[in-house]
Amino acid sequence: MSKRPTVEQRLYWNETRPDRVSHLDVRDPARCGPCDGRPCVRVCPAETYLWEAADGRLVIRFENCLECGACRIVCPHDNLDWRLPLGGRGICYRYG
Ligand code: SF4
Ligand code: SF4
Repeated sequence: MSKRPTVEQRLYWNETRPDRVSHLDVRDPARCGPCDGRPCVRVCPAETYLWEAADGRLVIRFENCLECGACRIVCPHDNLDWRLPLGGRGICYRYG
């Protein structure tokens, strides 16, 4: 039986032209610490968000973003400053 591909392997099939600055940001980092379940981390199909427990902060790997918008919807505190990458940058799906 074949092993399931990792997120990195699946993302390889897409082409990304990352913006120089992140198109994703947290409005108030202090709200992420006590956030119940951190749904942005769980819902993102590209593992864009990573909770660094040792530092108590949310890391955003914006280069991974597939621009689906799910994280913006599930954040219970409306705490994500979400916009599209500038100048046509961002994800470019190879297969539609
Ligand atoms: S869901 Fe919102 S408040 Fe919770 S960790 Fe993510 S960005 Fe922070
Ligand atoms: S828009 Fe979609 S792919 Fe991008 S960070 Fe949010 S959930 Fe992840």
